[in-house]
Amino acid sequence: MTCGWLTANSGVFGAPGDAGTLEVPVPSYLIVHPKGTALFDSGMHPTTQTDPAGRLGGLAKVFDVRFAAGEEVSGRLASLDVDATRVDYLVNSHLHFDHAGGNELISNARWVLQKREWEAGQDDAVAAANGFARHDYDHGHDPLLVDGEHDLFGDGSVVCLPTFGHTPGHQSLRVALPGGPVILTADACYFRETLEQLALPPVVHDREEMIASLHRLRAWRDAGARLFFGHDPEQWKGVPQAPAKIV
Ligand SMILES: [Zn+2]
Repeated sequence: MTCGWLTANSGVFGAPGDAGTLEVPVPSYLIVHPKGTALFDSGMHPTTQTDPAGRLGGLAKVFDVRFAAGEEVSGRLASLDVDATRVDYLVNSHLHFDHAGGNELISNARWVLQKREWEAGQDDAVAAANGFARHDYDHGHDPLLVDGEHDLFGDGSVVCLPTFGHTPGHQSLRVALPGGPVILTADACYFRETLEQLALPPVVHDREEMIASLHRLRAWRDAGARLFFGHDPEQWKGVPQAPAKIV
């Protein structure tokens, strides 16, 4: 699901070359499993549609938001006949506004995130240093704090993969599909070029950890996984949009 778009100077994303500005998608993924539903990232808060400066503060100077009513994650889910308040697991890659901003809408889910990311979000100084805002993620969810890899349904089909570096406890998600394994990288890797060139954005939590995570993503790709990058507008053109499925 595309839950809005963000435009910024391409340098903000570490995009190669001098491309001026770049508009990138804000993805969210619904995973339907016999044991329950899981959402991977929740996009931006709907207030961002009408008052981006009020919601994002200084980040509204960095990012132009294109985000229409109905594109918030609960609206996208409703168009699939899925009630946002009945999603079982809310898996956050990390706590940035374009990944956890819609958490409030997924109100009854178990909240699955890396313990390191949760801890960073609880420490106001660390949260601020990483660009986290409590109004995105402080909504009383029951946290399921994981430390490293975590098999969500106990059958190997949906596995959290630690890919630290972009933020203290960033994680990606591996999903076993009929067509083979898929890895939703989120911001461990914005674009295909990030993986090919190890071209990091200028602002990351820990560059060495992020490079190590990119090498692990490369190894999984070389072993046959299909990678879906965090904000790659070129790749996104070919990604099936719900209700179509990635298979
Ligand atoms: Zn991020």
